[in-house]
Formats: sequence, structure tokens, C-alpha cells
Amino acid sequence: MRKPLVAGNWKMNKTIAETRELLTAMKDGLNAVNGVERVVCPPFISLAAAAEMLAGSKIGLGAQNLYWEEKGAFTGEVAPAMVKELCEYVILGHSERRAYFGETDETVNKKLLAAQKFGLTPIVCVGETLAQYEANQTRDVVSSQTRLGLTGVAADFAPSIVVAYEPVWAIGTGKASTGEAANAVIKDFIRSVIAEMYGEETAQAVRVLYGGSVTAANAAEFFSQPDIDGALVGGASLKVEEFLSIAKAAAK
Ligand code: PEP
Repeated sequence: MRKPLVAGNWKMNKTIAETRELLTAMKDGLNAVNGVERVVCPPFISLAAAAEMLAGSKIGLGAQNLYWEEKGAFTGEVAPAMVKELCEYVILGHSERRAYFGETDETVNKKLLAAQKFGLTPIVCVGETLAQYEANQTRDVVSSQTRLGLTGVAADFAPSIVVAYEPVWAIGTGKASTGEAANAVIKDFIRSVIAEMYGEETAQAVRVLYGGSVTAANAAEFFSQPDIDGALVGGASLKVEEFLSIAKAAAK
């Protein structure tokens, strides 16, 4: 049985003071939800404050990115060991990073291998753009992002990877996919590729989340699907009651 996971991607929102405020409002309720791994991913600058506040709780902490080099002259970047000091999880290859910051399957792969080396649980994002969706390229895009992203990952690390299927056209648009459609992509284009690379047992062990306009109102539709193990949540993760409801729905 794969344990459900709900992760909140705060993106570039919340100062340190605002992070403290939001976590103060969210912490007890989120901590009390059993049967689901729940993770918050504030901006880098807020991670230390968040780690302090979440110490001793069951709420996990994730970063939104890392750089693959271990140290040195890489101004503005954050090394895996620095992330590991505070976090257990790291989001990699989010579509906003691919679209605005030049991330490619190759750089996502380097980051994933760095996460493996430093014992971080990666949440690797894959998903097609609207143009790709309309051109019937979902299979090609999602399976090749999965294959290239996971290349070279050790067989004993692969089962602990988390993949997030996030159709780009559904992110922040209010136009979520459907449970059935997302489940089909996850089963046919993500788990099947992982099965080819690492075998069926690993493909069944890897947790695959859906992300893209998940709300308290539509979460259950996704979580009722057999191949969807939780959600990567953007906008709704900044709203206390919404995020709590989503976590509770995943725990069922
Ligand atoms: C995301 O940031 O990964 C995301 C899915 O955003 P939203 O839930 O706002 O669509």
C-alpha cells in the first residue's frame, strides 16, 4: 500500500513573517490528520523558520528546488546539503522552472541524482503544456520527461521517488484535469515507463501525485483513482481550511 502524500507548493509567496503566520494557523490541524504524509514547501528564505516551527510535528518540509553541485562558485544557488539540513523533500522540475528558468530534462535529472546522493525525497514534476495537449503529444512528453528525468537513478532509490503529474494547462488556471484522465496518464505514461526502467514492483511502489488546480471541492475525485496517491497543491495550499480539507480527503 502506497501512503498518500499531499504537498503544498507555496511558490514565491510568503515572507518569513508570513510563513510563521500561515504555519501557526495551519500546524495543529495539519498535524492531527493521520494516514497521509503532509508536506509544506515554502520559499528557501523561509525554510529555517519553518523547520523551527515544525520540529517535533509530523508535517514534513520541502524545498522548491536545489542545485546539483555540492559547493562553490554558483552565486544565488542552493546546494543539496544546505537543503538537507532543513528538509526531507525537494520539488524538482516544476513547470514554472522549466518555462521561466530554462530547466530541461537533463538539469532535472542532475538535480534528481543530487537529491539521491543527499538522501532527499524528490517530488519530480512532469506534464504537458496546452499546445502539447492539443497536439496529442501527452504520451510523448510525459513518458520522455519521466524516462529522462529518472535516468541513472539507483534501483534501490527509485521506489522512494515521488512523481507529480502536473498538466501545465491545469496549473493555476482553475481548470483541473479529471480524475479519470489524470489516472490514465499516470498509469499508462508514468508507471509504465518506470516499469520498463525498474520493473513492475518499483512502478507500483513509486507514489504519483496529481497537481493542477486541486481544491477541497475536487480533491476526492482525484484521490479515489487507483493510480493517484495524493496531490501537489499550489494556490489552495496557502489557504488553511482548503489545504486541511485536501489532506483529510487524501487520508481517507
Ligand atoms: C503547483 O504549483 O504545482 C500547482 C499545481 O498549482 P495550483 O494548485 O495552484 O494549480
